[in-house]
Amino acid sequence: QQKINRIRKLNGIHVWGSDIPEPLLSFDQLVQEYKVNEVLVNNLINQGYSTPMPIQMQAWPLMLQGREVLGSAPTGSGKTAAFLVPILHQLQGPKKKGFRFVVLAPTRELAKQTHRECIRLSEGIGLRCHIISNVNRARKMFGAHTAKKFDILVTTPNRLIYLLQEGDTPGIDLSKVEWLVIDESDRLFEAGIRGFRDQLAVIYKACSNPLVKRALFSATFAFEVQHWCKLNLDNVAMVSIGARNS
Ligand code: ADP
Ligand code: MG
Repeated sequence: QQKINRIRKLNGIHVWGSDIPEPLLSFDQLVQEYKVNEVLVNNLINQGYSTPMPIQMQAWPLMLQGREVLGSAPTGSGKTAAFLVPILHQLQGPKKKGFRFVVLAPTRELAKQTHRECIRLSEGIGLRCHIISNVNRARKMFGAHTAKKFDILVTTPNRLIYLLQEGDTPGIDLSKVEWLVIDESDRLFEAGIRGFRDQLAVIYKACSNPLVKRALFSATFAFEVQHWCKLNLDNVAMVSIGARNS
């Protein structure tokens, strides 16, 4: 325990919650201890990464254990790979079930960036990662009567809500979603974007698989988001990198 505390302190990792696993210090440990797909780990190495960043050290073991997480770390500190790696591993490979992983991002630009990183990290694994560029085309591609040959969706909440609510039948089926990630959650929860809580409730309801898990990431350890997580997430683990109120 003392050793774990020292590792956390050295890396500026603060944690709240019960049974938080030991931080991972190397990519090797992903393979050795968590049996993470080596293709995925090699994709990290091929990006030029050599060691996990602090948010990854703590979020990876948590999410690989299936824990719901709130992670906060400054901009540019590797939050995207912090959630992509454990979830891409758990999705294993392509299936014909429809979307099993959804990422919500506050803007189209951020959604595109995450989509690109998702494609890079899933190279050689065959997972199909999509973004909604046109809602009518999306309805045709992802609606009820399609072959369901897609696994991952990165989108803004507005476009997803439009697909779920406009028209006679939902333009997208989220019943097979296993992980719902809310990226930049502090921005989404901000007063400026009205009704995100309501949008999230609609999206979560559409994710009708009772085992669906949620993870939230943000640049600040915002009180509102913490509060929402404590109320809504199951046995939430909270991780914050750097100063508590940065
Ligand atoms: P955030 O979402 O926290 O703002 P990003 O996930 O966009 O940050 O990551 C910032 C940069 O760090 C990106 O260019 C990403 O490719 C890079 N990066 C991610 N993980 C690592 C790592 N383990 N080692 C080195 N660079 C990394
Ligand atoms: Mg980010």
